Amino acid sequence: MLSRELYKVTCERALEYLNKAGIVITENEKNNMEVAEYGLGEIDRIGLELIVYVNTDRCCAKELILFPGQTCPEHRHPPVENEPGKEETFRCRWGKVFLYVPGAPVQNPKAVAPKGREKFFTVWHEIELNPGEQYTLAPDTLHWFQAGPEGAVVSEFSTKSRDEFDIYTDPDINPAQSRKA
Ligand code: ZN
Repeated sequence: MLSRELYKVTCERALEYLNKAGIVITENEKNNMEVAEYGLGEIDRIGLELIVYVNTDRCCAKELILFPGQTCPEHRHPPVENEPGKEETFRCRWGKVFLYVPGAPVQNPKAVAPKGREKFFTVWHEIELNPGEQYTLAPDTLHWFQAGPEGAVVSEFSTKSRDEFDIYTDPDINPAQSRKA
């Protein structure tokens, strides 16, 4: 679990990226920013910062902030209670993000799997998202993504988010390990 101090520093840093992207959030949203570090203690490499705008029984919208080279590790959203699992659309707002999904693997990937954890990154079909570009993932599709050298701000639109059911490829990952204020 992140220390309170590191949480605060990380949120401040994420706010700088939102400012660069021209995205305005409320004080309340600032104070409820989440930092997902998955229990790995490597927030600069593996993790992301997020703001949840809405998450009802039917739909969800979030802003994701990734520092340069920061990686959201490989996972999928399985069916839960007769529902097919979360469908997600990622739209890049600022910076650049490399998204990886099942399919023909790219020859020279632009992202680098975090050192020591390479074997937990198994899908290598590359989708590069620049500002204004988006991609929709079907439910239960393995995926991971990494920001380019400047970092990235990515809007996520999806069906209901139930993070506790997400399945990560890396067994060391604890999906519940994110810190709020
Ligand atoms: Zn996902």
